[in-house]
Amino acid sequence: MKSPDKIFIRNGDGRNFTFLEIWALAGQMSSALAASGVRTGDRVAVQVEKSPEAITLFLACARLGAIYLPLNTAYTLAEVDYFAGDAEPSAMIVMPERLEAMADLGKRHKVGTMLSLGITGDGTFMDKSRAQPKDLTDAKVGWDDLAAILYTSGTTGRSKGAMLTHGNLTSNALTLIDTWRFSASDVLIHALPVYHTHGLFTATNTLLLSGGTMLFRQKFDAADVMRLMPEATTMMGVPTFYTRLLQHKGLTREATAHMRLFISGSAPLLADTHREFRERTGHAILERFGMTETNMNTSNPYEGERIAGTVGRPLAGVEVRISDPESGEPLSTGEIGMIEVRGPNVFKGYWRMPEKTASEFRRDGFFITGDLGRIDEEGYVSIVGRGKDLIITGGFNVYPKEVESEIDSIAGVVESAVIGLPHPDFGEGVTAVVVRSGKDVLEKDIVKTLESRLAKFKLPKQVIFIDDLPRNAMGKVQKNILRQTYADLYR
Ligand code: AMP
Repeated sequence: MKSPDKIFIRNGDGRNFTFLEIWALAGQMSSALAASGVRTGDRVAVQVEKSPEAITLFLACARLGAIYLPLNTAYTLAEVDYFAGDAEPSAMIVMPERLEAMADLGKRHKVGTMLSLGITGDGTFMDKSRAQPKDLTDAKVGWDDLAAILYTSGTTGRSKGAMLTHGNLTSNALTLIDTWRFSASDVLIHALPVYHTHGLFTATNTLLLSGGTMLFRQKFDAADVMRLMPEATTMMGVPTFYTRLLQHKGLTREATAHMRLFISGSAPLLADTHREFRERTGHAILERFGMTETNMNTSNPYEGERIAGTVGRPLAGVEVRISDPESGEPLSTGEIGMIEVRGPNVFKGYWRMPEKTASEFRRDGFFITGDLGRIDEEGYVSIVGRGKDLIITGGFNVYPKEVESEIDSIAGVVESAVIGLPHPDFGEGVTAVVVRSGKDVLEKDIVKTLESRLAKFKLPKQVIFIDDLPRNAMGKVQKNILRQTYADLYR
C-alpha cells in the first residue's frame, strides 16, 4: 500500500475512510465471515444499501477467497428467494430492516449466517466484525479463482449468475487505469449503485488500484454533483446522468474546469447529448462499452477523437469481432452482425448453467455478447441494439437504432424507442414509442420525415407518444415492458 493514510472513500454522510482503514476493516469482516463458517469458495450474498462498508465487504470476501454476490436493493423477497436457492450462499448480509423478513428464506435455503449491514455502518454484521482482530492471513487466491457472481439484469428470461474471476477484474481495472490515465491524484464522483458492475468494478477497482479517491453519493442528484465538480477530476456515469446535468443551468465551462474526464456507459449515449455537453462544457464525453459478463470491452480514446454514437476501439488485450449471428462466420468491415469478444476480461461462465454457457461461446473462445453492431475502417465499434430487439417485418431485418436515430433528429422529439409488435400480416410491425417536448410533433410529421430517409419497410406502422420511456436503474430502456404494454396493438 503506497499511501495508507490517504482517503479512499469520502462518503456523502461525512464519513471518510483511508486506504488503511478500509483494508483493516476488510480484515475484520473477513475474520467475522470465517468465524461464521464461511470458507474459501463459498458464496456471500449481499443485499445492502450503498456504503463504504458495502465495498469493504467485497474486499473482505476477496481476502477470504469467498465469492461476493451483490443483489440489487430493489429485488423483492421472492426474487431474493430465487437467488438464494440458485447460489446457495453460506452467508447473507442484508439491510437491517429486512433481516427479520429474510429469516424464513434463510432457513429454507440453509443459509448458515444471516446478518445485517446498514447505511451508516450499523448492523449485526458490523458489530461482529468490529470485535475481530485487524490482522488477517489472506487466503491464497489465484487469477482463475472466482471473486464474484453477478446476476445479469435480465431484461428477458431468468437472471443468470455471471462468474467473474480475480483475473477478470484485476486485468480489466489495470487496463482501464492505463486507457483512461487514472492516477493517485484522481478524485472520482461516484453516484452509481454498487450492486452493478459499473459502480462496483469499473469505478471502484480502477480507483482502488490507482490510489485515487472516490466521492460516494447514494444516488445521482444534478445539483449535488455540480457542487462536487470543483474538487473532483472525473466522473463515471450512465447516460441519464448527462442528460440531467444538461438540464442544470449551472453546467458551464467554468463549473467543469477542474474535471479532466467524463465517462459514460451501460446504455447508449445519444449523439445529441454528446454534442450538447461538448458545447456547454468543452468536454467530449468518453463513451465505452461493457457488460456484466465481460467487464469493459471497448473505449473511445483518451487522446484522439471521441466519436459520438460509437463505443470506441477494443481495449488493449481484448479482441472484438463481428460475426453472422446465425452461422458465426466473420463479417467484413462496416457490416452489421453479432459483437463477439475474447480476452482476460471475459467471465468464466454462468453459475451452474454449463449448457447455457457453452451455447454463448464460440469454439475458439469468443463470447457472443448478444449485442449487434459494426466496426468501421478506423476500428471504432458502434452498437445498433440488442440481438433480441432486432425486428423482422415481412421478412426484412430492421435495426431499431437506425430508425430511432432518424426519429430523434426531428425537432421536438426528445427520444424514442422502436420495437417490433406481433402483426397479422408482417409477423412483426415496426412501432415507434416517442417522447416529445411539446404537443407540436404529430405522428404524420414523423412518418413524413422518415419517408424521405428510410426504406418503406423500416417505417413505423404506428407512432405512440408517451411521457417517459421505462428505464431500469442503470438507465437502460426496458423495451420488454413496452412490448408487453402494446402487445395487442395490431391484433
Ligand atoms: P449490463 O450487463 O447490465 O452491464 O448490460 C450490458 C449491456 O448494456 C450490453 O450488452 C449493451 O447492450 C449495453 N451497453 C453497455 N454499454 C453500452 C454503450 N456504451 N452503448 C450501448 N449499449 C451499451
